[in-house]
Amino acid sequence: MSKTVYLDHAATTATDPLVVEAMLPYFTEKFGNPSSIYSIASGNKNAISNARDIIADAIGAKSEEIYFTGGGSEADNWALKATAEAYSNKGKHIITSKIEHHAILHTCEYLESKGYEITYLDVDEKGIIRLDQLKSSIREDTILVSVMFANNEIGTIEPVTEIGRIAHEYGALFHTDAVQAFGQVPINVDEMNIDMLSASGHKLNGPKGIGFLYIRKGLRLRSFIHGGSQERGRRAGTENVPGIIGLGKATELAVQSMNERIKNETVLRDYLIKRLTTEIPYTRLNGHETKRLPNNVNVSFQFVEGESILIMLDMAGICASSGSACTSGSLDPSHVLLAIGLPHEIAHGSLRLTLGYENTKEEIDYVVDNVKRIINNLRNMSPLYEDYIKKNTK
Ligand SMILES: *Cc1c(COP(=O)(O)O)cnc(C)c1O
Repeated sequence: MSKTVYLDHAATTATDPLVVEAMLPYFTEKFGNPSSIYSIASGNKNAISNARDIIADAIGAKSEEIYFTGGGSEADNWALKATAEAYSNKGKHIITSKIEHHAILHTCEYLESKGYEITYLDVDEKGIIRLDQLKSSIREDTILVSVMFANNEIGTIEPVTEIGRIAHEYGALFHTDAVQAFGQVPINVDEMNIDMLSASGHKLNGPKGIGFLYIRKGLRLRSFIHGGSQERGRRAGTENVPGIIGLGKATELAVQSMNERIKNETVLRDYLIKRLTTEIPYTRLNGHETKRLPNNVNVSFQFVEGESILIMLDMAGICASSGSACTSGSLDPSHVLLAIGLPHEIAHGSLRLTLGYENTKEEIDYVVDNVKRIINNLRNMSPLYEDYIKKNTK
């Protein structure tokens, strides 16, 4: 197999050719500024509005509740900082979890430096937050609960509906970082008690640098960017028209194909998990068996280093990840794997494989064969493994 096998869809995805096709005219003949009066420009206003409708529909929201942003990180920053500011007269306490993306965690650290108090909820060994701990942490002065819809490293899907219900019982708002979930699993903001939701184009075969924040009507959030009246004055700046069109198209395709993708990816995912955990000794699955994104596999192999696995997989043309893309390059084990209770040495031997709609069973077999060979080779070079085997075969 000479082609690349891409199994890192949680890091980013290729833009679907149909999405590119939909975007292209907006770079050239339809380049006009949507705020201009003449018809070649004002048509873009309708195109944006159409994309907004598609996205709102996908999560059961109203069109005017969708605000386009420069991606998932911006949406997360906006939700947290603006809520903190707007509701500081009610309180300065925010609840989040220990397994959030850095776009949330580092924003929380920033807010701590500004005098806010943050509670970081623990998760159980499968990565699910503890609802009883949420209930006991929430207080009169809690203004916001922000817990991700699905985790980007281990794929665990959080009990969002219950989290939202508890937040509302105590008069707090509920934000969810749904960057990994949007377009992958069904979402309904009303049924799930969600007040704000972040998503990003490049995780669902859309373009990079475009995302959105859903803000429930009536919330008093401050503007994120001051300037013109774009995005109802809350996020100023000439619209990223091709990006918005691309995100709209990607959403339309994701919604149309969702059921079939969930079915196919779940089969491939479970096949991959089964082969890895049964054919390679001293291997464990990280995350929940069923409350899990259909495209996520995360396993730990004892006695090996994740980075070495990645380098050797790369030589076989396989793209994978050992943790979140943002943390690779540092030698600290992932905060998510530590939060589910893995010891450092096991967290270090972790591999994340995330599927996309284009992956096939043949590719999965190729990957498993290579992983088996690589783990075997690495273990044969590992003094830890040698010691362990000696001790256990006496
Ligand atoms: C990728 C990701 C983000 C960041 O989105 P960008 O569009 O890359 O800024 C935030 N949260 C989660 C869970 C993600 O997976």
